[in-house]
Amino acid sequence: MNFDRRKIRCKREKTLETVTPLGEIIEVIKESRGSAFSRCFQCGLCDSLCPWSRVRDFSMRRLVREAAFGLIDIGSEEIWLCTTCGKCPPECPREVKQIESGIALRRIASEYNVFHNTSKPVRTVRGSLSGEGNPFNEKREKRSAWTDGLSVKSFVRGMEILYFPGCYPCYDPRLKKVAQATAKILERAGVSFGILGERENCCGESIRKTGDEEMFIRLAKENIKTFIDHDVKRILVTSPHCYHTFRNEYPEFSAHFEIVHIAQYLFEIVNAGRLEIRGKYPGKVTYHDPCYLGRHNNIFDEPRELLRKIPGLELVEMAESHKNSLCCGGGGGRIWMETPRGQRFSEIRMEQAIQTGAEELVTCCPYCIAMFEESRISMGADDKIRVKDITEIIEEVI
Ligand code: SF4
Ligand code: SF4
Repeated sequence: MNFDRRKIRCKREKTLETVTPLGEIIEVIKESRGSAFSRCFQCGLCDSLCPWSRVRDFSMRRLVREAAFGLIDIGSEEIWLCTTCGKCPPECPREVKQIESGIALRRIASEYNVFHNTSKPVRTVRGSLSGEGNPFNEKREKRSAWTDGLSVKSFVRGMEILYFPGCYPCYDPRLKKVAQATAKILERAGVSFGILGERENCCGESIRKTGDEEMFIRLAKENIKTFIDHDVKRILVTSPHCYHTFRNEYPEFSAHFEIVHIAQYLFEIVNAGRLEIRGKYPGKVTYHDPCYLGRHNNIFDEPRELLRKIPGLELVEMAESHKNSLCCGGGGGRIWMETPRGQRFSEIRMEQAIQTGAEELVTCCPYCIAMFEESRISMGADDKIRVKDITEIIEEVI
């Protein structure tokens, strides 16, 4: 993307007093797949649906308007707020692609290395991804440390499944338990599977949503090469974000693999009789649809059907569920940015879960679990409800 640096203006840099209409910015937006801005007729429907409208002033409608005229302040916090939850795009009467449009603005900011204070952690993440292939700056060699004490094999040609845990389950102490539960279930079911360990990179989904297309392409190409070199056919993922990018974005590189999310896979092997549910799970649970599994990929039923197969488990729904599910707040790279208390969607979601009377909030996305666990503690709700991944429940009943 080449454009004249002098013509991109940022209030925060104080080099110019304000932003002005610029053909160049409009061109950059078009190049970055944000050309649908101009179709907006300012109906405001997106604002009425957006979860931000419940907690603070933010207007996608306003952002779209400003961008359509090239009147955008790339140093503002606004361009970093959208969590890419997917709630507004399908309802837009003019098919303005709000997510792609918003990312187009972030690409300009990213290209110029202009970050609002709240989005500055993205720069550190970029460095970690570049150096170690994960956003935590953890050593690449430690990527398989979660397997300590388990007999998980390295993936070799001919195995049925490549298990791709993703960054959080590989490194985060809470999420490691999810990768471990997954491995134990697969072993119990006799599935032939292996992992890539230090040959695995971050999938790149979230860094792409922050506008860093270059880093996404690099990570994606390295992963694709590794998959091809190992003759991988079917990839099992823990994260809906990995699912989304492998399934819907890696084909941009002419790379096609069969991708299956763990909730789908468990449903499949239980139905096929490969995994038997032997135990009971007495109690009330409520299921949270992760945005990137539900709204973005239309997987609503398999996790629920799987939970309903467990004797004793009572599944109850929250006020907003299925395609109306409330975002946890961690998508679109927001997982790396600080959101003040009182503005976190995860706090509203925890309240909704508690109101159902459920003892456990179950989901199947590492970002959702990280966000909910943090809110559970910060809200002092640790004695009111537990947060679990669906694999942690299945592990207890097989
Ligand atoms: S819903 Fe679509 S047309 Fe309406 S304000 Fe939002 S972007 Fe514009
Ligand atoms: S995708 Fe979600 S977070 Fe982004 S503007 Fe639309 S409703 Fe708001």
